[in-house]
Amino acid sequence: MKRKKLLHPEPLAEPRPCEAPGCVSDAAFRAPYSRDNMKDTRWFCLDHAREYNAAWDFFQGMSQREIEKYVKDDVTGHRPTWPFGLGTVGVAAMSELLGDQVRDSLGMYAAAKAKQRAPKPAVPPEQRKAFAKLNLTPGSTLQEIKQRYKELVKRYHPDMNGGDRGGEDQLKDVNEAYRTLVRAHSS
Ligand SMILES: [Zn+2]
Repeated sequence: MKRKKLLHPEPLAEPRPCEAPGCVSDAAFRAPYSRDNMKDTRWFCLDHAREYNAAWDFFQGMSQREIEKYVKDDVTGHRPTWPFGLGTVGVAAMSELLGDQVRDSLGMYAAAKAKQRAPKPAVPPEQRKAFAKLNLTPGSTLQEIKQRYKELVKRYHPDMNGGDRGGEDQLKDVNEAYRTLVRAHSS
């Protein structure tokens, strides 16, 4: 099936504002309102028309089920693979394009995205490494750190392995990582 052309640069009859929230640019491009409504148009500046278009193209040819799955997977954070340029307009546009059924998932997506953008307290690289060494995610509690440390000591300590010293290097790293994290917690 031949894809409809979505962007039409219009001769400026009268300037009108871009429909993207917060955008003050003049809209020179129109896009169809939704899949079910190709007659009515929305008006965007070039950047937002591109974004809207990217959202539209991206989901073109997917079934409703596939789209929902995609959105859900992304919300749970396993696959941060939204196409480039898919910002707030993209999400709003998809909501229009896809209809009510995925609107909730998209709302969740937007919320998750907003949360991602909120600045997190930075974990210094030294601590990040230490968490990784103990197979923990940054931000684990002191109790979790201690628990994991105990497990790893059991795994690597020669006394726990019939005198086998094969885990000594690992144990050294684990000890160091543990010290780093306890120090960070007590400061
Ligand atoms: Zn705009």
